[in-house]
Amino acid sequence: SKYEKGLEKTRTGFGARLNALLANFRHVDEEFFENLEEALIESDVGFEMAVSISDQLREEVKLQNAKSKQDVTNVIIEKMVDLYEQQGKDEHTEINFAKSGPTIILFVGVNGVGKTTTIGKMAAMYQKQGKKVLLAAADTFRAGAIQQLQVWGKRDNVPVVAGPEKSDPAAVVFDAVSKAKKENYDVLFVDTAGRLQNKVNLMNELEKMKRIISREIPDAPHEVLLVLDSTTGQNALSQAKLFKESTDVTGIVLTKLDGTARGGIVLAIRNELHLPVKYVGLGEQVDDLQAFDASEFVYGLFK
Ligand code: GDP
Repeated sequence: SKYEKGLEKTRTGFGARLNALLANFRHVDEEFFENLEEALIESDVGFEMAVSISDQLREEVKLQNAKSKQDVTNVIIEKMVDLYEQQGKDEHTEINFAKSGPTIILFVGVNGVGKTTTIGKMAAMYQKQGKKVLLAAADTFRAGAIQQLQVWGKRDNVPVVAGPEKSDPAAVVFDAVSKAKKENYDVLFVDTAGRLQNKVNLMNELEKMKRIISREIPDAPHEVLLVLDSTTGQNALSQAKLFKESTDVTGIVLTKLDGTARGGIVLAIRNELHLPVKYVGLGEQVDDLQAFDASEFVYGLFK
């Protein structure tokens, strides 16, 4: 599995809880389902989702007449993948690229979730695919954010458009979009400030940025990716709700999955936000980013 590295913790947490449950498996009874529900809740799947999964498993186990441990395991895996995919039937897990001209991707999220790191990793990934990549340091508020993006730019050998610290991020965005158009870049990643003030301010700031972009390129931004730190559990979910109410978020990047034993957050996000997880961060290094694949993820838990 492509999640071999990076999911050890979730595998020893979420996965191990499920595996322990199955290791003690004798037969399917009410206690089994109650324990399953508990294991799911403890893994940040979310209460509603945990109840829904175990309810549907009860049905499915009956329907398929699953009795052996292997049969029951298979039903659990199938159902979890199914549930994940069903909820997002109409969602695109692929990045929406511009038909022509540069693709503009806005990264939003609160400080420290891993926005800059994700941009650095994605820039390297896209450049390897032969794309011409440009970065914009529009997080002009956090001390060191501009420099941090420039470090990634150097490492990836990708240019970074930046202004002075505390300058208007809108000006940086304008310069970057103009450059991307004029010099035929394939993708522009915009790092934004993650100030989680009140909803109105957040909304105004994001809308202003989007307006500047779409004035230059009418169908842009092509993606607004919300970056969430999976180690913050339910907190990540409430942040996500605020951002979702403030702007049209098109997808999630879930970082630091390597740092949590509660990978069930992936399912909770799908269930509660109805947003596709597009990428997952599995470490601090440049290669530690993977396009998200629900079935590989769930199968990875039962290794
Ligand atoms: P930003 O404020 O949202 O731009 O966050 P940063 O990109 O500065 O990341 C904050 C910290 O999280 C840094 O120390 C990163 O190295 C670390 N980080 C980011 N993504 C991951 C990840 O997927 N796994 C781990 N373990 N650390 C990460």
